[in-house]
Amino acid sequence: MYTLDDTIAAVATPPGVGGIAVIRISGPEALAIARRIFRTGRGTSPRLQSHRLYHGFVVNPDSGETVDEVLLSTMQAPHSYTREDVVEISVHGGPVPVRETLALCLAQGARQAQPGEFTLRAFLNGRLDLSQAEAVLDVIASRTTQALRVAEAQLAGSLSNEIRELRGRLLGLFAGLQAAIDFPEDVEAVDMQPEVQAIGERLTWLLDEAERGMIYRDGLRTAIVGRPNVGKSSLLNALLRTDRAIVTPVPGTTRDTLEEVLNLRGVPLLLVDTAGLADTDDPVERIGVERTRRALAQADLAIVVYDGSVLPAEQDMDVAALARGIPAVVAVNKSDLGTVDGYAELLPESPHIHVSALTGAGLDTLEETLLAAALGGEAPGHDPVASKPRHRDLLRRAAASLEDLQQSLARGEPLDLLAIDLSDAIAALGEITGEQASAQLLETIFARFCIGK
Ligand code: GDP
Repeated sequence: MYTLDDTIAAVATPPGVGGIAVIRISGPEALAIARRIFRTGRGTSPRLQSHRLYHGFVVNPDSGETVDEVLLSTMQAPHSYTREDVVEISVHGGPVPVRETLALCLAQGARQAQPGEFTLRAFLNGRLDLSQAEAVLDVIASRTTQALRVAEAQLAGSLSNEIRELRGRLLGLFAGLQAAIDFPEDVEAVDMQPEVQAIGERLTWLLDEAERGMIYRDGLRTAIVGRPNVGKSSLLNALLRTDRAIVTPVPGTTRDTLEEVLNLRGVPLLLVDTAGLADTDDPVERIGVERTRRALAQADLAIVVYDGSVLPAEQDMDVAALARGIPAVVAVNKSDLGTVDGYAELLPESPHIHVSALTGAGLDTLEETLLAAALGGEAPGHDPVASKPRHRDLLRRAAASLEDLQQSLARGEPLDLLAIDLSDAIAALGEITGEQASAQLLETIFARFCIGK
């Protein structure tokens, strides 16, 4: 299905108009194709050396017509992104020079690259493993500086190294098991249990890392709920430090659900500001109530807002009832007006923070508490090693196989049964790095890339 024999070409920059655009060529004919369509200012076709930058012109070799003035760079195999010969031509960033230059490359024998095909070649040629190739996508799509750091670390091989080490240890166990199966008289049985347990613990740690990494990568849906007028919009504004949400002293005027992303120390909180919860016959307000329920149903995390300067109202109890069971932080607002008792009993299992959206008092503590709630505890002092649902699922599968293996060991099951669990754990880890990846898996992953990457 995949071939490495031909030479591929594509535009590597986004469509549209820009200062420059880059056309990338990779494969055995890359340099020859470039030589045929490139001329220096003196009209010569230079012998292209690796890692050099050439100034000149893209010229149609059949008609002799100049297409554009360009810079051309060369990277000879194996010192390139794909580990093949690569040429990149920077043309002026308009659709016509881009299209004509690419057309010349194709006319000279290159094939239009598929989405992600350059990165696929980097993978097939052993320059990147699968988790590193996926990290390329995350680098491009990262929403916060922290998400970028996580992706860069994965690209550099932080996860790959972990997985490769654990898989190597499992392969060692497998070899020992195989020997014991094949030569039962000659091979002394080893106690696998301690090693299986140690690897299992490492997998559990990696699973936690993946859960945390996914939060940095994808964010958490966060609903701000409370009865009208407790200060939800004001609090949202204070947290965002913008004026996006509508703040007004008239109850129930926040009709529409607004969504903003709060960058909470690297964790994207996708905030949903909802109309207050109120029993009402007003049809418009009813929609607001419905939205509150719906927002809570979708939320990973809730910020429950009360007006701490007045006694709890019945609607406050309703809010508490709706939010029960969802990880929540209670913001007891309007602390500048004084605080009455009675809120501690509402959602007692959730942390209560006294704040003032007006003066900003307590907002730092609120942010810290939210961060801890988002991450399910104190944030460890390092960036997460894994961050993808695919990796989490495979880590889970590997960990489950090792648990089965531990139980089989404890029951003294026959060796070939143990081998089944062991090889499944090995396969799951191999799918993370791509050492055991089906063509179909590769196709789904690389289809998510853009053309030219
Ligand atoms: P929402 O209906 O829950 O979104 O409440 P709003 O954010 O619209 O606030 C309702 C009223 O309370 C507005 O007049 C705000 O200015 C006021 N308010 C909000 N937070 C505070 C606060 O911390 N202290 C004081 N004194 N007033 C506040």
